[in-house]
Amino acid sequence: MPAGKIVAVAKNYEDHRKEMAGREGGPGETRVGVPQTPPQVFLKPASCLLADGGILRIPPGVTNVQWETELAVIIGDTINQATEEEAMGRVLGYAVFLDMTARDLQAEAKRAGMPWSLSKGMDGFGPISDVVIATQAPPWDKMELRLLVNGEVRQRSLTSAMIHSVPRVLAHVSRFMTLERGDIVATGTPAGVGPVKKGDTLEAELLGQSRVRVTVE
Ligand code: MG
Repeated sequence: MPAGKIVAVAKNYEDHRKEMAGREGGPGETRVGVPQTPPQVFLKPASCLLADGGILRIPPGVTNVQWETELAVIIGDTINQATEEEAMGRVLGYAVFLDMTARDLQAEAKRAGMPWSLSKGMDGFGPISDVVIATQAPPWDKMELRLLVNGEVRQRSLTSAMIHSVPRVLAHVSRFMTLERGDIVATGTPAGVGPVKKGDTLEAELLGQSRVRVTVE
């Protein structure tokens, strides 16, 4: 099944909202205690996807590339103007996804009030694991994310800590943008984001379900 668009949710865990507060200047600056309602989303291109065992090559001149470990929802059938229940019935499965971000470029774009697509959309900026079929997986809010960098735990969170639930995100997005088979919805990162360096190995896991391991060059 070819991958479609990647719809990613911004700031969907309170601990990550807090760690980003005050780090970003200009429009869109995060303020603690001000939840973003409804969920805010952005797009990443399918060309950023990187499979298990892949090599993430940072383009020359690109600085401060950070990891964000996220639960990805894989869409199995068209979701348009759907209720939460209808939307969940069309989920094919789940994967773990790394929403890699060139943070300096993103901050610069935010300050200038310009789109930050490039900072999130570079080749390799979307490592993703194999898909666990929904009927064989725990419910979306009963899973646990973990990221090891060079074998050390750097991120760990229960998916139940999301601010906007998976059903809510899918139903909300489907009011405006049809989700199609093969689309991927990345549901936001918990706290613990940080920069990679050459030679690092990132191993993201949906604990007990699936994992993706990539090396940075
Ligand atoms: Mg993210």
